[in-house]
Amino acid sequence: MTTTDTMDTEGTIAQTIRMVESGCEYVRITAPSLKEAENLRNIREGLHKRGIKVPLIADIHFTPNAAELAARIVEKVRVNPGNYADKKKFETIEYTDASYQAEIERIYKRFSPLVKICKENGTAMRIGTNHGSLSDRIMSRYGDTPHGMVESAFEFIRICEDHNFHQLVISMKSSNTQVMVQAYRLLMQRMIEHGRVYPLHLGVTEAGEGEDGRIKSAVGIGTLLMDGIGDTVRVSLTEAPEYEAPVAKYIVDVCTQPEKFQAAAIPDINKPFYHPFEFHRRETIAYQGIGHSQLPRVVAAPQEPIVSESGLEPFGHIFHPIPDKWSMDEQGADWVFQSGSPIPFMLPNGLKAIYPFSLWKYLKTQEESAPLLTTPEEWSEWASAQSATTPFILMTPDNFQSWLDCPAKGIRVLDPGQQHPLYTWRYWISVLDKQGIQDPVLLKLEVHPSHTGMHNLTEEACHQIYASCMSGALFIDGLADGIWAVPGNALHNRISFGILQASRHRMTRTEYISCPSCGRTLFDLMETTAMIRSRTEHLKGVKIGIMGCIVNGPGEMADADYGYVGSGPGIISLYRGQNMVEKAIKTEFAVDKLIDLIREDGRWVEPLSAI
Ligand code: SF4
Repeated sequence: MTTTDTMDTEGTIAQTIRMVESGCEYVRITAPSLKEAENLRNIREGLHKRGIKVPLIADIHFTPNAAELAARIVEKVRVNPGNYADKKKFETIEYTDASYQAEIERIYKRFSPLVKICKENGTAMRIGTNHGSLSDRIMSRYGDTPHGMVESAFEFIRICEDHNFHQLVISMKSSNTQVMVQAYRLLMQRMIEHGRVYPLHLGVTEAGEGEDGRIKSAVGIGTLLMDGIGDTVRVSLTEAPEYEAPVAKYIVDVCTQPEKFQAAAIPDINKPFYHPFEFHRRETIAYQGIGHSQLPRVVAAPQEPIVSESGLEPFGHIFHPIPDKWSMDEQGADWVFQSGSPIPFMLPNGLKAIYPFSLWKYLKTQEESAPLLTTPEEWSEWASAQSATTPFILMTPDNFQSWLDCPAKGIRVLDPGQQHPLYTWRYWISVLDKQGIQDPVLLKLEVHPSHTGMHNLTEEACHQIYASCMSGALFIDGLADGIWAVPGNALHNRISFGILQASRHRMTRTEYISCPSCGRTLFDLMETTAMIRSRTEHLKGVKIGIMGCIVNGPGEMADADYGYVGSGPGIISLYRGQNMVEKAIKTEFAVDKLIDLIREDGRWVEPLSAI
C-alpha cells in the first residue's frame, strides 16, 4: 500500500513503480474522499504511460461516494464492512431482532449502489474485515471475536450475492495473530458450508517494524499458508512500502514449497486434533518447569562449547566482572545445551544445563542439570540409576517409533531432521496424543544456511521468516511448550523469544502496534515509532499503538494498551485502550504525556541505564 498523499500524483506514481520493482503484484492506494478517488485516474494514466499496468486497489473507509467513483477507475475496491455504512461510536447497543434487521436493510441500501457499479465495470471488491473496526452492531451480538469478524464479512457477502456479484476477495485482519488465524479458518469453514468459497487476502494488521514486524507477519500469514489457506498476501510494515513485498514473497516461498524438504511422505492428519477456531493449550504434565500452564521455554544451544561466562552473553545472561555479578536481559534463555564438557562455572539467573547422557552420567552434581537421552537403551540405563531428574528425550525420524514403544517419560525434543518441520512436528504430536502421552514438547528447529539470500533479503531477515513460518502455527495452536533453535546464537535466541511474543505466549518486550502509514498519515510514522521505541522499549509486555490518523487508527489498534494517534497536523490524541484520554496535544509534548499516562497506571519502570 502506498504511503504518499494520493493527491501527490507524481509521488504516488514513483512510489508505485518502486513497489512494483520490489515485487508487488497489486498496489493499494487510499481514497479518503472524492478528490483522491478522482485523482486515481491521473495516477493510473501516469502509470500506464510508463508501461506499468499493475492492478490498482482503492482503499475506502467511511466514504461510499469515493468508493462509487473509484470503482469506475481502478481494478479493485477495498471496503471495510465495519465502517462502510456505519460511523463507529464504540457504543454498546441492545438490538432486538427487528432493529437488527432494520440495520441490515439500511446497509443493503447504502452498499448496493457500489455492488452494481462494480458489476457493471468488471471491478473486483475486497471485503476487508478488521478486528479493530467491527461495527457496534456486530460488537453487540458477537463481541470482537473471530465469529463477529466472519459475520461482519457475511453481511456484505450476502448483499453482493443478492446482486449476483461474486468478484470478491475476503480478508480478516487483526494485529493479534491468534484472532487473525482463527478468523480466517472459521471464514473458510463457513464459506464451505455456504457453498461458495471466495479467494482470501491474508495479512496481520499493524505488524510493526523490523524484526518484530517480520516475525509477527510470518507467524500469522505462515500459519494460514501452511494450512493451505490464502490467495494474496500483504505484509504491513512500518517501513517504506517497497520493503514489504520481499518479505511477503519469502513467506510464500517458505510455506508453499514443501517439496524442498527431503522427506518420506508425512501421513495425513484427517481430523485436526487441536482446536482450529479457539486457543487451547495441549494438555501436558509439567516437568522441570516445562509444559502444562508454564510459559513456553527457550533452549540455547551454542555452536561452540561454553568455557567462560562470556559464552552466555548471546543468550541474555550477562556477567559483569566488576562487581562480579550476573544480570539478565528480558530475553534470557531458560536452558542451555552443551556437549563435550561441563560448563565450568555455576549457572546464573535460574538457567539450567542439558548434557548428553554420556556426559551427564559422570557429573557429580546432577541435580542442577538434566540428561538428553537419544535412545531407549539410554533410557533403560538412566531408569536403572533411579535418578530423580526428569530427562529430555530426543525424538528423530529414525528413532521416533522406538521411543513410542518405550515407556519413557520426559520432555520430548522433536527433531524433524531433514523433514518438513511443521508438518512433522504436528504429525508427531498427534501420534503422542493418540497414544495418551502427555509429555511436554520442545521444537528443535534447524535454520539451514541455505535459507538465505532470497528476494534480496538479509540473512537475518530470512532466518526470522523461515523460523517463524515453520514454528508459529504450533504455538498459535497451543501445541508446543518451547523452542530449541539450531545453530544457537544471539540472533536465534532473539527470534525464539520473538516467535513466542508474536504468537502471544510470552511477552518479553514492548509490543508496538504501529500502522504501516498511508495517504492519510499525519506524521512521520517511522521516525515517531523509533522515537517512542527509544523511550519505552524496556516496558516488557506493554502494547503501544502508534497510528497515523484518527479516522482509522483507534479501530485498528484494538489490541493496544495505549494509543498515540495523529488527530491533525502536529496534533496527537492519546488513548488508554479504546478510550481517548487526552486530545489536541502538540507533537513535541506527546511522548512525555504518553509516558505520564503509563506512569499513572503504575506500568512505568525506569530503564536500567537510568537507575
Ligand atoms: S491508521 Fe495508518 S494506515 Fe490506517 S488509515 Fe490511518 S494513517 Fe492510514
